[in-house]
Amino acid sequence: MFSLEKSKQAFAEARTYMPGGVNSPVRSYRSVGGNPPFISSASGSRIYDIDGNEYIDYVLSWGPMILGHANPEIVASILEAIPRGTSYGAPTLLETEVAKKIQAFYPSMEMVRMVNSGTESTMSALRLARGYTGRDKIVKFIGCYHGHSDSLLVKAGSGLATFGVPDSPGVPTGVAEDTITLPYNDSDAVRQLFEAHGESIAAIIVEPVAGNMGCVPPVEGFLETLREVTTEHGAVLIFDEVMCGFRSSSGGAQKYYNVIPDLTCLGKIVGGGLPMAVFGGKKEMMSSIAPSGPVYQAGTLSGNPVAMAAGLATLSMLQKYPNAFRQVEESTEALCQGLEAAAKEVGVPVVVQRVGSMFTLFFTDKAVHNFDDASACDMEAFKTFFHYNLERGIYYAASQYESNFLSTCHSDQDLAYTLQIAKEAFQAIKG
Ligand code: PLP
Repeated sequence: MFSLEKSKQAFAEARTYMPGGVNSPVRSYRSVGGNPPFISSASGSRIYDIDGNEYIDYVLSWGPMILGHANPEIVASILEAIPRGTSYGAPTLLETEVAKKIQAFYPSMEMVRMVNSGTESTMSALRLARGYTGRDKIVKFIGCYHGHSDSLLVKAGSGLATFGVPDSPGVPTGVAEDTITLPYNDSDAVRQLFEAHGESIAAIIVEPVAGNMGCVPPVEGFLETLREVTTEHGAVLIFDEVMCGFRSSSGGAQKYYNVIPDLTCLGKIVGGGLPMAVFGGKKEMMSSIAPSGPVYQAGTLSGNPVAMAAGLATLSMLQKYPNAFRQVEESTEALCQGLEAAAKEVGVPVVVQRVGSMFTLFFTDKAVHNFDDASACDMEAFKTFFHYNLERGIYYAASQYESNFLSTCHSDQDLAYTLQIAKEAFQAIKG
């Protein structure tokens, strides 16, 4: 019998010490209601909570664990690193090794700077773009999330190209005003904006496969348009591949769609589950970063030896077993096809969108191309689906606006059970 009794007590206590009881909002289950399970351990495709429930995990720490939880080789690398000291604040051989590996997967990252989170990576890439171009304005797309730095916590008001208003109290209006937001996948809007304001725009930052309004691929020509207008107007094109990196393909979205940005941000998988992220790109541009150049960026724990060990182990394994990408992609494809077929059989309108090993099941009857499309989904159906699954040991992302992920550890049996429960959940929605 499914019970979250201990998690309920733990959540109540956590709420007295931490806002919402969590250290990152989506973990609180605000958008689906109910009590989040408190996790005690994870292994392979599974996570376990403090009530003794076991789940097939399609969240995978929001993406990083492509080789499954507690992968023995990654764990061994971490355990080997720790006795040598957990932080030195000084250069190490490991950092260069990791930089070389990153470049092997992402040749466009000729030089990199390691940081501790995706937020830091996008924030720093933007500072570089602004410093390099001497311009202030940046363009982002509605529904793309790039972490929580001030310039990026901005969404559109009404209108096609709206000068941004802060999405959160505490973001200065002046900062938000320099962020222009446009609808995702709208090439015409991008062209019009650059015709009018191209000379004042430092950068476009984009999730080349959006994952933060659910999984939304770029429509044909969209990324090419971004490349074209930025080149034409001397602006920097930044691909935020923190989520879609190593998920869209071995070389991320830029390899998959063959559009090469000036700067790339990576996080999640690149750190093997430890706090590590990176941004990088053209040597000439990266040379503007301190101490080579004037754009300041720094970090006490950046290039941390334990995080580097985890990252190096992950990247080395992915390099050694390049079939891993195909294997995870094939499992994801099979799961998505199964989900779509089950929904169709029961008669619940869903669209399952996937790129590589990330996917979202949208409760809608038409393709989702942007944030408005995602917002039009049946959120009540999503909630029913989510809780039905959770109570039967399937752990999906707790929001319609999120992507789900698979790992090399998700077995055929995992998928078969997932599809069985999905069908029942669709029947429950149908009523
Ligand atoms: N960029 C993208 C595309 C993300 O999905 C995220 C987080 O989910 C971030 C940036 C921020 O990364 P972090 O949570 O490590 O700060």
